[in-house]
Amino acid sequence: MFTLADSHVHLDDTAFADDRDAVIERAGHAGVETMIIPAVDADSWPRIKTLCASHRQLFAAYGLHPMYLEQHAPEHVDALSSWLDDASVVAVGEIGLDFHVAGLDHDLQRHYFTSQLELARERELPVIVHARGALEEVILTLRRIPGLRGVVHSFSGSEQQARQLWRMGFHIGLGGPVTYERAQRLHRIVTQMPIEYLLLESDAPDQPDASHRGQRNEPARIVEVLRSIAELRGESEASVAAATTANVRRLFDLDRRAS
Ligand SMILES: [Zn+2]
Repeated sequence: MFTLADSHVHLDDTAFADDRDAVIERAGHAGVETMIIPAVDADSWPRIKTLCASHRQLFAAYGLHPMYLEQHAPEHVDALSSWLDDASVVAVGEIGLDFHVAGLDHDLQRHYFTSQLELARERELPVIVHARGALEEVILTLRRIPGLRGVVHSFSGSEQQARQLWRMGFHIGLGGPVTYERAQRLHRIVTQMPIEYLLLESDAPDQPDASHRGQRNEPARIVEVLRSIAELRGESEASVAAATTANVRRLFDLDRRAS
């Protein structure tokens, strides 16, 4: 069996309220021994902190997600700055731009995104980025702030955009969508990209793999993502598991934290 790392899982979500411990246990049985839990709004920070404090394999990221724009207030950025003082935090996230969902003010999203990128740079923390209908602008924004590192999660852009990101040293998070037969563009990216920039993710409870379409997703299912990626690249599952787990440990500096 392999050791796997889920680089993006919303385990604090209410979708797991009734069986969270069982979900964590199933993940462990599937080899998922490391999980990164990104926040969506200020209300989620305390519950993620509590959750991660009671499970050594869970690691917290704090941030303000663009889709939850209406829950954010200007003072949350200052509050976030204090939350990032906590030595157990591994990243700033989930942050980014979403121009796909209607009714979310673009300028206000830009304000929160840039402020949080600045915080990440100050603290030398990696960022977990959400980009939907806005990848071009996200890449331009990341370029404008030198010294950033991180991951664009649930990548759905072009081959050229993927290449731009890994050349900037950014990682690409891939999950359930890569298991879909029609995802030809993603498949080409998987076969071409350097493995050192690839992270596996469940994005649970969302984005189930092709065999669990329409169901609640959970971290144990990244074995399906692993299987698809190994097959596409013509590599063993063991080598893809080892490389992507090492990538997560390196990006989020987990070995320093564990010691
Ligand atoms: Zn997410």
